[in-house]
Amino acid sequence: MALLHGWRTCPRCATLLENDGTRVECPACGSVYYANSAPCVCALVEDADGWLLLARRGVEPDRGKWDVPGGFLEEGEHPLDGLRRELREETGLEGEPGRFVGVWMDVYGDFPEAVATLNLYWTVHVADPQPIAADDVAELRWFAPDELPARDELAFTSFADALEAWRRDRGEGRQVFD
Ligand SMILES: [Zn+2]
Repeated sequence: MALLHGWRTCPRCATLLENDGTRVECPACGSVYYANSAPCVCALVEDADGWLLLARRGVEPDRGKWDVPGGFLEEGEHPLDGLRRELREETGLEGEPGRFVGVWMDVYGDFPEAVATLNLYWTVHVADPQPIAADDVAELRWFAPDELPARDELAFTSFADALEAWRRDRGEGRQVFD
């Protein structure tokens, strides 16, 4: 992967680094850096009828394709706090996390700027179904579970698998749609 690609000098003391691609160590100050996947949170937002809110991406990568509200966690941030924050920033909605749907690995962007991502998906319930798209979102639209966009219209590679898992298990452990 690419996180440590091209690292030559220590960001703390500027000494030349020892870099094996997965781990970088500074022989002078002892700093160590690992190429971990970046954790991301993804909101499968459902309305009272079980429709799903998708966001068409307004920026690269995968500009123009359908995605869900979500993004990178901040340092020390609890994933559920990050989920609420990303939802608020991208849609203006206040939501309550529901069922944990699963984890999918993916890659964000292209080499050498590509970032390996670890994507955590929850359902989110919103009381107010009137979202307002943020600047980096081209469009927000509600989809019926059986009328989701085709696989080649979806952003990233793992998103389609996450959507399929959501569609398969939706309503599980809940009474509201029965
Ligand atoms: Zn150093």
